[in-house]
Amino acid sequence: MSIKMTRRKFLQTTSLAAASIPLAKVVSAETGFAPNKFTAPGSAVATETVTGGVCEMCFWRCNVVGKVRDKKLVKLEGNPKGIDNGTAICARGNAGIKLLYDPDRLKYPMKNIGERGNPKWKRITWEEALDECATKLKAVETKYGAHGIAMFPHGASAKYPMEYLENVIGTHNVSEASFFQCRGLRDTGYMATFGTPPGENVDMANAKVIFLVGDHLGENVHVSHLKRYLKGLENGAKLVVLDPRYSASAAKSDIWVQIKPGTDTAFMLAVMNYLLEKDKYDKKFVGERCVGFEKFKKGISHASLDWAAKICDVPVEQIQEVADLLAANAPNVSIHPGRHVSWHGNDFQRMRAQGCLTALLGAIGVPGGFVKPKGPKVKGIGWPKGEHSGEHNLRLMADKHHYSPPGTPTDLIREACLTGKPYPIKACVIWGQNPMQTIPNQQKTIDALKQMDFVMCVDVMPTDITMYADILLPEASYLERYDYIKTGTQWNFADPHQQFIAPRMPLVEAMFERKDQVWITNELATRMGYADKIPVKSLEEKIDKELATVNLSLEQIRKEDGIHLQPGKDPYGVAEDFEVLLYNEDLEDSGYPGVPTYIPVEETPKGFARLVYGRSPVHTFNRSQNNVWLNHEMPVNPVWVNDDVANKLGLQDGDEVSLVNSEGVVSSATSIIKSTPGIRKDTIYIAHGYGSRNPMMTAGFKKGIDDQELITKLAVDPETGCHGMRNNFVKIVKNGKTLDISA
Ligand code: SF4
Repeated sequence: MSIKMTRRKFLQTTSLAAASIPLAKVVSAETGFAPNKFTAPGSAVATETVTGGVCEMCFWRCNVVGKVRDKKLVKLEGNPKGIDNGTAICARGNAGIKLLYDPDRLKYPMKNIGERGNPKWKRITWEEALDECATKLKAVETKYGAHGIAMFPHGASAKYPMEYLENVIGTHNVSEASFFQCRGLRDTGYMATFGTPPGENVDMANAKVIFLVGDHLGENVHVSHLKRYLKGLENGAKLVVLDPRYSASAAKSDIWVQIKPGTDTAFMLAVMNYLLEKDKYDKKFVGERCVGFEKFKKGISHASLDWAAKICDVPVEQIQEVADLLAANAPNVSIHPGRHVSWHGNDFQRMRAQGCLTALLGAIGVPGGFVKPKGPKVKGIGWPKGEHSGEHNLRLMADKHHYSPPGTPTDLIREACLTGKPYPIKACVIWGQNPMQTIPNQQKTIDALKQMDFVMCVDVMPTDITMYADILLPEASYLERYDYIKTGTQWNFADPHQQFIAPRMPLVEAMFERKDQVWITNELATRMGYADKIPVKSLEEKIDKELATVNLSLEQIRKEDGIHLQPGKDPYGVAEDFEVLLYNEDLEDSGYPGVPTYIPVEETPKGFARLVYGRSPVHTFNRSQNNVWLNHEMPVNPVWVNDDVANKLGLQDGDEVSLVNSEGVVSSATSIIKSTPGIRKDTIYIAHGYGSRNPMMTAGFKKGIDDQELITKLAVDPETGCHGMRNNFVKIVKNGKTLDISA
């Protein structure tokens, strides 16, 4: 089948199409999403439908079914029984087949007989690979202690080995990119305000106003989340978007605030101060639920509209317009908590400001507001927790980042690797994460890895980090294994209340010598002398035992077409003991602002523009970089540059360019110019996660510019230790000539 034919069919099934044609044409009033289930002619003929799939082309994990012919998966669809994504899946979910059968996938255990970073691979047996991993990890554990081992995990499959390292071996040095380079500070920022992490839980489907701070829904696609958003817009919700760029969301907005990057907190402080001054806040909610109102009011009293307008580089009238719109529609307002929020190193304060604004509007527990769905609770079965002290916890030893998410801030681990202080870290386990393209300052990561006695990687695909492994192990993909029990509720909170439980079950058997995480970890544990701690013999047993905690079994789930449904609970309302800390005394006691505070970011140096990045709807980093269908849709990540700036520089759409940052790092690959009025003159934008430098990725190799390569300057959020990653400045390089950007 030619790619061209496939592409046309492919687009018809995806949200990419939904994002590019008028809303009314793609959204059904009943479901809020594509009205007709598309079946590509011929592709699903003479197939058997296998249920129980849970997508993991991104973290959202939609329920899917597979169309299988001759033991081969030929098509993926949303599970029609589902009450979350239903029959809809996105472009990436649809293209999961191309990940499954990607000829570049890891197939056998391999040993690096070259150098780290410049590997030469030799195929070895599982026995040899596991013996070597266990011997080397044990040697480090014996010589340096458990804390001599670090781990960088990502995804559902990394949880079991992560628990092994933390609970049984006893290292604290585990750093998840999904926390320290993504959403961790959102969770702890909201916890310091609401006492609970927010997830992406806002009831957009029933909102009168949706307020997005940098979120670009439509480019950032998670199916049921997008259904809520589109349903809200279809119902007439007003959309306010703060973004320096005319994103897919800005394009649908009623008010687009083309804000200067890094200043969103100042904007929200001014909105809140205005609401207080004009008596436009929810006095009942604040009186009953909020703590520290007077201190809060005083603490933000400097934030006039004029003050914020200058900082944010937006008109005073626009800030007032947004504040009035929010107040007029309160409490049915969705202030979206965001997902990837590690931007400028001042982000914890922004999260606090968002939480406080939500509270001033009384937009908690009401239709359209911050609403936490009440899904079923399934108990996990895992490794027993050992008696490990906090003695070697780098964060406690440094006595900082007191509002860190779980794990250890990445830079504390990297610094210990590089300096040997307060102790050496000499072995590294990397499981499903690609720290080269998630953690800023790649050279520091390379130096940290090069001083290790041992590095092992487990992954589905070769990535930029697997080039640094000594032993590289091939993992079964999410379509070939059990694991992860997805739970939740109906996607629209206003619909009849239901809950679902849907464990991931394999749609096809794993090919070649790929193994799942329980098998690999148990084999390692046995060789390292911890066989007596092994909690389950297989992944299937683990899931079955977890299901038993809610009186279910895999057998029962199979009978129920992959998804168990049961009556749900009303998600609206607020718990009796729920309170909002507008002023947080503990924060102040730890040396941080007790009231949300704007911390200025570095000004853009003359001749440069600030580099910002975001998502593409056809790309989720490792899992999609080498996917030929997705690659075909957006092979490189265009460099968005303001058209006035482009004209002055003599740049035109499609010109091939590279980028150089203010520290002299030049991108190793090139991309193309997108000249547009839809971006500020002081800002350059590219989609994240392109430009792999691993030649084993034959489709994704050096396609587009790797934003992470240019993020060399570090900004660490003081409360959390999370990385801010929009603090680097770039110039454009064309035909070897570096062009000064004058905004
Ligand atoms: S949003 Fe798309 S990629 Fe993410 S889990 Fe759902 S179908 Fe898969």
